[in-house]
Amino acid sequence: MSTVEQQLDDLEAQITSELPSDISVSSVKYEGPELVVYTRDPKKFAQQGDLIRQLASKLRKRITVRPDPSVLSRPEQAREEIMDVIPGDAGVTDLDFHADTGEVVIEAEKPGMVIGRHGSTLREITKTVGWTPEVVRTPPIESSTVSNVRSFLKQERDERRDILEKVGRQIHREEMSDDEYVRITTLGCCREVGRASFILSTPETRILIDCGDKPGAEGEVPYLHAPEALGAGPQTIDAVVLTHAHLDHSALIPLLFKYGYDGPIYCTEPTRDLMGLLTLDYLDVAAKEGRSPPYESEQVREAIKHCIPLEYGDVTDIAPDVKLTFHNAGHILGSAVSHFHIGDGLYNVAFSGDIHYDDTRLFNGAVNDFPRVETLVLESTYGGRNDYQTDQSDSERNLKEVITETYEKDGKVVIPAFAVGRSQEIMLVLEEAMRSGDIPTMPVHLDGMIWEATAIHTTYPEYLRDDLRDRIFHEDENPFLAEQFNHIDGGEEERQDVADGEPCIILSTSGMVTGGPIMSWLGHIGPDPDSTLVFVGYQAQGTLGRRIQNGWDEIPTSEVGAMGNGGGRGTLSLNMDVETVDGFSGHADRAGLENFVKTMNPRPEKVLCVHGDERSTQDLSSALYHDFDMRTFAPKNLETFRFL
Ligand SMILES: [Zn+2]
Repeated sequence: MSTVEQQLDDLEAQITSELPSDISVSSVKYEGPELVVYTRDPKKFAQQGDLIRQLASKLRKRITVRPDPSVLSRPEQAREEIMDVIPGDAGVTDLDFHADTGEVVIEAEKPGMVIGRHGSTLREITKTVGWTPEVVRTPPIESSTVSNVRSFLKQERDERRDILEKVGRQIHREEMSDDEYVRITTLGCCREVGRASFILSTPETRILIDCGDKPGAEGEVPYLHAPEALGAGPQTIDAVVLTHAHLDHSALIPLLFKYGYDGPIYCTEPTRDLMGLLTLDYLDVAAKEGRSPPYESEQVREAIKHCIPLEYGDVTDIAPDVKLTFHNAGHILGSAVSHFHIGDGLYNVAFSGDIHYDDTRLFNGAVNDFPRVETLVLESTYGGRNDYQTDQSDSERNLKEVITETYEKDGKVVIPAFAVGRSQEIMLVLEEAMRSGDIPTMPVHLDGMIWEATAIHTTYPEYLRDDLRDRIFHEDENPFLAEQFNHIDGGEEERQDVADGEPCIILSTSGMVTGGPIMSWLGHIGPDPDSTLVFVGYQAQGTLGRRIQNGWDEIPTSEVGAMGNGGGRGTLSLNMDVETVDGFSGHADRAGLENFVKTMNPRPEKVLCVHGDERSTQDLSSALYHDFDMRTFAPKNLETFRFL
């Protein structure tokens, strides 16, 4: 008998002895990090509200209780009884019964009402019907990404359970080594921006953190074949942890499955969905530009199938000697500072991922409060000595001025923006400015992936800033549903109508004017001297956005492409005003990065400054050393650090 079997038998005996004698246990299993307890008495289990929590703290495991399939009531009957228990205004849109595991997935507009105070309604459901309820939110704005991911996972349910059981055995295997060390190897994003990737290893375990591409540098991928990484075979990696969905962190996660990796990916639920959206778009863009992408959509599906979503604050066993906890990073939806607790009190490492230290309109500022942390791996995008950003309230005032001036000229405002993050931040600024009368109320047209990305944001309000979440939850005033927002879904004809119409604001991808519907908007509105093009995000060297920012006003129509009015040969005269309003970054600036470290509790002994160009990482590293008297490094790629 394998040791995991022995362990499960022991756990079953222990749980049975802890439970009242009238509650039976029919089997216990690992599913990923969770211990699943099957019982023939699910109703009695639910009647004793505290039982599961007591067991979990006694066994130090995450525990889920499910009914033994032999005791389940028929779904048709259970459906009626469940609907009687749930308050009518919860807005249940779907009930999905899974007899093999005794679970019922309830999709509702107001999941909080299905859960009840401290889970009371959920317990009531189990007390009544015996089934184990699981709740998901009905997206307030229909999202094809969310519905595709959900229906795909439903269709792959059996295989997913096999994956989870296998992962569960891996996590709970017996520790083999008596040795003690912790090492970090840098596989990318050191003294450069892009291709984020690291290996965290112990004698027992190897974890890959992030696996991104390098924008604008075709083919430069992380050093995945280093002996520390996949060099020893993809099966030697225990787990992949994804801090957030931006492509410079996530683009090459699906590639791992092409290389033969078949283990878990830990990330938040929104990160999973956004990764699906962004990697499929990444393949799309590659195809349109005639490049052959490194993997196919099949591998994106594999990646999604292997995702194990975790919530902020959940302490989760991901290997025999490693616990992972995600904390809000304030950068984009679902972004996570990833804290690793190694051994039993042996060592702690936090990877910042990308962070924003101060609150923004969308997110609370990054969390930097950990029980313990000895080493911090810190992003340094704006770590340079002069990398201070305009205060956001000044930026907002500038933006509102530009909009008002353009409106008074009867012109239109065109804003190129990234679909994920910056667009929603600008939407919130515009919604408030119109509500309070700071700028005239006018239509705001959203083009490209912005609408879809916004729909994903509204599916996960618990990941948004407190007061925004409260507005969405309690006051029924979801700002993203404000009536001035219009989704451009009618293509070129609708764009032409907008271009011929009244003053308005247009938010469109791509953020650096490198393709997408923004090209079409330039074709339609570019020649109008009364309109304004406003840059709100960083324009990288070599992009059309940067060239326009630098004064380019005769654009070859080959750049604008077949979209808009600019087909054929010749040039497009850009007569519209061009303005830049900075300060809307999703990254902490130099002050924010220093404050993140300064207010850390406790402060780390060592800091590795990564994810920034050579100057930024070295500036930040020496500043932290001088100011806080800690050991700091600006590593290069392929360095290994040993701790302990
Ligand atoms: Zn990012």
